[in-house]
Amino acid sequence: MTILDGKKLKQEILDEVKSKIEKNNAKMKLAIIQVGNNEASNIYVGQKLKACEYVGIEGNLYKLDENVSQEELLTLIDKLNKDDEVYGIILQSPIRHDLDFDYCSNKILASKDIDGFTRDSVYGNYINDTDILPCTVKGIITLLDKYEINLDGTNVVIVGRGNIVGKPLMLAMLNKNATVTVAHSHTKNLVDVCKTADVLISAVGKKGLITADHVKDGAVVIDVGITRVDGKIYGDVDFDNVKDKVSYITPVPGGVGPLTVASIILQLYEMYERRNING
Ligand code: NAP
Repeated sequence: MTILDGKKLKQEILDEVKSKIEKNNAKMKLAIIQVGNNEASNIYVGQKLKACEYVGIEGNLYKLDENVSQEELLTLIDKLNKDDEVYGIILQSPIRHDLDFDYCSNKILASKDIDGFTRDSVYGNYINDTDILPCTVKGIITLLDKYEINLDGTNVVIVGRGNIVGKPLMLAMLNKNATVTVAHSHTKNLVDVCKTADVLISAVGKKGLITADHVKDGAVVIDVGITRVDGKIYGDVDFDNVKDKVSYITPVPGGVGPLTVASIILQLYEMYERRNING
């Protein structure tokens, strides 16, 4: 069994981008818009800004008041769209429930949409004609590539059909020529469905949902889920009991999570390259 080490790969990705930025004397800004003071968002935003600082990207946080109007939010997005020094814009979710996240994030220019949430980016994934993917999806694909895990012809089972992970991952896996099954809360006999997987990916957010019974011998197991209990982070997979059955497995923490952050930096630098070097 091999542990898929997301933390190590994140460091490699950051170091590679850092050296390219230095070599090309590249200057770029990342704008992160946060509405209010959500505790988990503060942590994620902090990680993104820290990664920016490490590689030499100027990360700017626009922390808006909890009561900001949608109009003010859209005005800021418009301003950042027009700022040539800004190569990437993130609208950090969640935002206040009466603000329309989809509508607002869709106003981000596709060429600055490093989160891959605009309709253009989503459609690009749909027709397999985009380099921009939601960062967690990009992270999973980068991890599988790094460990030379070939998806072509494999049975991939994804548990979870959320808009941020499950659904875009389904398309990305299909685009890699996998045979894809997507399970969700209405799926009958989850154990039997999961057992068909050569590659099992769980993106639910329920601690211990995936047990040794769900996993076929020699499968690859990717755990995207995050559940916080008493300040500790747990995945969906019962790691200790599953690890001896599998060929590869991601830990939580230290698996997919770090790669989500690394993918933001990677996709931001790729935006820069498209505009200034390859474009
Ligand atoms: P989401 O939109 O809430 O989706 C959760 C999915 O899980 C839904 O499709 C739901 O089914 C399904 N589900 C719930 N209970 C289930 C059960 N008992 N059996 C099978 N499926 C079940 O969440 P998300 O945004 O996709 O995120 C999923 C998890 O990934 C969360 O824990 C989140 O924190 C984590 N995450 C991690 C990273 C990272 O960097 N590691 C990044 C993003 C998200 P229905 O559709 O039928 O309700």
